[in-house]
Amino acid sequence: IAVRTGGHAYSGTSSTSSNNIQLDLSGAYNDWDYDAQTGLLRLGISYSLLEFNTRLRQAGLFMPTGQCYNVHVGGHVQT
Ligand SMILES: Cc1cc2nc3c(=O)[nH]c(=O)nc-3n(C[C@H](O)[C@H](O)[C@H](O)COP(=O)(O)OP(=O)(O)OC[C@H]3O[C@@H](n4cnc5c(N)ncnc54)[C@H](O)[C@@H]3O)c2cc1C
Repeated sequence: IAVRTGGHAYSGTSSTSSNNIQLDLSGAYNDWDYDAQTGLLRLGISYSLLEFNTRLRQAGLFMPTGQCYNVHVGGHVQT
């Protein structure tokens, strides 16, 4: 079983051959909960970096990330 969010793993670890199972989580976990009092942001792993950075900017927040906008939070954080 291979787990995938953005699908950009350099080593192919989120891909499978034909008789296996790929869990595509790119649309599964989109929670977003920001507490302005504590500064704590909890979010699901399905955001692309473009979506993530767009929402951060709308909230006046910033976090350094990689440059590929279609890498997703799940794969980026795992790696
Ligand atoms: C053009 C380009 C530019 C890049 N630039 C940078 C950069 O500037 N800085 C940087 O740090 N990296 C950079 N990267 C590397 C990128 O961050 C990693 O390849 C990242 O792992 C890709 O994440 P993904 O979600 O697209 O990949 P995926 O292929 O979906 O996942 C990557 C790995 O994480 C696992 N995984 C995925 N989702 C989950 C999950 N929800 N739970 C547990 N495991 C999971 C997968 O099984 C796989 O092993 C770049 C990649 C590309 C293609």
